[in-house]
Amino acid sequence: MDKPSHLSVVVDLSPSQWHLCGQSSNSHPLPLSAFLSQLLAFLNAHIACNDENTLSVYGALPGKSILLYSSATAVPEEFTGPADPNTYRPFEVLDSTMMNSISDRVEALTDLEQEPPIGLVGALTKSLCYINRMSNASSTSTAAGGVQGPVVLPDPRILVVSVSPDESSSYIPIMNSIFSAQKLKVTIDVCKLYGPESVFLQQAAHLTGGSYIYLERPDALLQYLTMAFLPPPAVRQLLSVPTQDKVDFRAACFCHKNIVDIGFVCSVCLSIFCQPVPVCSTCRTKFPIKTLQRLNASKPAAPAPRTPAPTPPATSLPRSQSIGTPRSSMGNGLVAPSPSRNGTSLPPR
Ligand SMILES: [Zn+2]
Ligand SMILES: [Zn+2]
Repeated sequence: MDKPSHLSVVVDLSPSQWHLCGQSSNSHPLPLSAFLSQLLAFLNAHIACNDENTLSVYGALPGKSILLYSSATAVPEEFTGPADPNTYRPFEVLDSTMMNSISDRVEALTDLEQEPPIGLVGALTKSLCYINRMSNASSTSTAAGGVQGPVVLPDPRILVVSVSPDESSSYIPIMNSIFSAQKLKVTIDVCKLYGPESVFLQQAAHLTGGSYIYLERPDALLQYLTMAFLPPPAVRQLLSVPTQDKVDFRAACFCHKNIVDIGFVCSVCLSIFCQPVPVCSTCRTKFPIKTLQRLNASKPAAPAPRTPAPTPPATSLPRSQSIGTPRSSMGNGLVAPSPSRNGTSLPPR
């Protein structure tokens, strides 16, 4: 760990999910307060590993996302006086800045009947923008000065700490974030603390070379964090960091935002639909009625997942596309063809 590294943490702060996670009826409950103290210990460890390590923390709250801490902002005035001899100043600044912003935001939350979906996508895209800005700042300062400036963000990574289930409407923005992360060479790690497995975050970790870990013992969070997520990706090649043994590659349809086993893909723009459609809602391509009839006839009966849909003769299709390819020119390595998941493309008229 001799090279400095940048870490952006996205913390899921859904009040209802944290309430469920901390319930004593769980086999290993983890209340929010215990979670925050373990997370702060991990963040302190990150900034202590190297003097030049940088850190930003984003909180995903119901309906919004906020910056909780950034090592790039100036130290607040209250910390410029004489230091407490028993505390390390950077730890003190980090801990109190984060705890103050979290308590301010949580107190400001109104008591709504139904909690809006958490701003995970917002927090993720803001982290990517932050990394992009810092990388550009370092490269322009180096070019303008002609002198090698401080090495900034050589190994940027994002750690998502998630407790909420997937929001299927956020499939497309999450996929676009993954493509941006791939382009920026940012690794996305996912620590799933509570709730059902996250299909989208599994794909995010898989496609960016990160680790997705579902904690069987959430109360042992700090151990997972320090063993798996503290070493930067370059060091992890020498360690045995747990990886996913299986990744759920299913995609969400663009029409109803449902996660589908078998999808129908527009052969022009690669939009995914859960059923054959006469007109692609994204690119307005019309499909021949004969194809629709044939695809409808070949659709498998509702819940019969093990029998693959009979694929129409290859000669009648311009090209066949497997499901899981959202609309993007950068979507490389996305498709995982498997016998149980059949994609059928709709040829344009
Ligand atoms: Zn649909
Ligand atoms: Zn289309």
